[in-house]
Amino acid sequence: AEQERIFVERQPGSASRAARAGAVLAGGVTSSWQITRPQPVWLSHGAGSKIYDVDGGEYVDLHGGYGAGLAGHAHPAIVEAVQRQVARGTHFAQPTDDAIAVAEHLAGRFGLPLWRFCNSGTEATMDAVHLMRAFTGRDLIVKVEGCYHGHHDSVQVSVTPDVGDVGPADRPNQVPASTGIPAAIRDLTLVVGFNDLDAVARLLEEHRGQVAGMILEPIMMNAGIIPPVDGYLAGLGDLLHAHGALLTFDEVKTGLTVGPGGATARFGVRPDLVTLAKSIGGGLCCGAVGGSAEVMGFVAEGGYDMVGTFNGNPLTMAAIRAVMEHVSTPDAYDRIATLHHRIETHLDDSLRRHGLVGKPVVAGAKGCVTFLDRPVRDYRDFLEVDDRYNHAHWLFQHNGGVFLPPWGKTEQWLLSVQHDDADVDRFLANFDRFAAAVG
Ligand code: PLP
Repeated sequence: AEQERIFVERQPGSASRAARAGAVLAGGVTSSWQITRPQPVWLSHGAGSKIYDVDGGEYVDLHGGYGAGLAGHAHPAIVEAVQRQVARGTHFAQPTDDAIAVAEHLAGRFGLPLWRFCNSGTEATMDAVHLMRAFTGRDLIVKVEGCYHGHHDSVQVSVTPDVGDVGPADRPNQVPASTGIPAAIRDLTLVVGFNDLDAVARLLEEHRGQVAGMILEPIMMNAGIIPPVDGYLAGLGDLLHAHGALLTFDEVKTGLTVGPGGATARFGVRPDLVTLAKSIGGGLCCGAVGGSAEVMGFVAEGGYDMVGTFNGNPLTMAAIRAVMEHVSTPDAYDRIATLHHRIETHLDDSLRRHGLVGKPVVAGAKGCVTFLDRPVRDYRDFLEVDDRYNHAHWLFQHNGGVFLPPWGKTEQWLLSVQHDDADVDRFLANFDRFAAAVG
């Protein structure tokens, strides 16, 4: 309560805007995930690793725009590329040279030869699901309980189901993740636990010849951070292919945040399709689908029309090219790894000193603290993670000048290539204050 009082007192400008916005924006925000408690925060600008609210408050940005902020703010290479392109026209609905360069970079990094672009992670996974169905001529898809793949119908199933709704762990219920999802579409999305190969094998047997493919995050990132167990990703590929079904890695969140070639290169498992968005765009709207010669070749032959007015738009292509050439560099990953090593060591120590049960978990530039006494292996473990402290932690960080993503235990922080030791100092000092208060 004390931290919420401080929060509101520091932000009169956001309070007055909340009242005005409520009259014209549904719920006073432009996406339901922009609602923060006790009130939304209105930002004025960003620079480097920092963002600034309308009251002049400065924050180290670890929110990272829900994972899109790998470049940090106003990165000189992105500013230069976008300014150059904006003066040369922003939309033609025809390809530009940058689109070829970007596809060449992605093909090299992800080991998948053919690419198309779109404008969000939702569009990318929607196209991937359509394409798996179109290529195989089958309707069923498999998704992992607790994975979020955007807000189109087929994947809005069992995203954050409540403990009372989930059903048996080896045979999870198909739980609609939102109102407005028709039961007929929900029924086409089969659900398995993460890291559970047996469940996939059983579904493929039970629905022989009917499963188009499976979509999953190769490192689960909408339930804290859950790594795949050894052999899981490769095993999925083998199983699915044996049944004539396809494998899609949704790397919208992992992507360049976990390495130059995403989780695909990191684990050395090549899926049939990869979806990318957030991490590649340097802060612009973006999406991409890459795939094998066979599956994306089906698109090339006209087997599936992958369309969109703004697909491959010149501004986004210029920004992604700048990310590839100037942001997502070997040096940047080394710097981020060094910062994360500091964070992990300090948080481990702070949690222990203050008698809190929890563990920092890091994957490349993404990190979170999981308040549980053991590693999390799947969504069922994740349901047991203690969510009592996350809002308090968020408030302590916010009032201490660090902006974290607000959604309790599900989200991760993101270090950008522009964060430095002073930013980490501020984060760690706030963490210690939080741990002392709740421990
Ligand atoms: N896939 C994953 C793994 C995501 O985390 C998200 C968004 O959080 C999406 C897809 C959807 O991306 P977008 O919000 O750009 O539509």
